[in-house]
Amino acid sequence: MKKNKEIRLEFVECEREAIDDLSVQELINSCYSNLDNAYAPYSHFSVSAAVLLENGKIITGSNQENAAYPSGLCAERVAIFYANSQYPNQKIMALAVAAKYNGKIIELPIPPCGACRQVLVETENRFKNDIKIILAGFKTVIITDSARLLLPLNFDETFLK
Ligand SMILES: [Zn+2]
Repeated sequence: MKKNKEIRLEFVECEREAIDDLSVQELINSCYSNLDNAYAPYSHFSVSAAVLLENGKIITGSNQENAAYPSGLCAERVAIFYANSQYPNQKIMALAVAAKYNGKIIELPIPPCGACRQVLVETENRFKNDIKIILAGFKTVIITDSARLLLPLNFDETFLK
């Protein structure tokens, strides 16, 4: 038996200037104000992520590179792991990500890498709570209601049982 199946991805794409949700604007602004904290001497690609916790607190993270390249870590995971290590009982409600290359903020929405998507899905499962994902280009922004949408057919804890 063979079945053709389809997975649909629904998301919002809009101009950054058109965003009227104040909490989304605040999260994006937190990203921007954290961009220069990135340590990106090799790629010159600075990334900043901001997560909103259930208690209203915003935690930011930036990419941290290393001369031994794989030892570095993405901004998204820096922010999520810091949030989860400092506030292990706080749900993550939303995550925004923005980037700067050679001193200029990227205009297009910045998508998280596969490893960060995996961690985001695990975080959703852990807290049984969808995380709004905001890919904040300087010009264009993409918003999805859940990280799971960005990683269809993902691996999770159910395979370990
Ligand atoms: Zn990543």
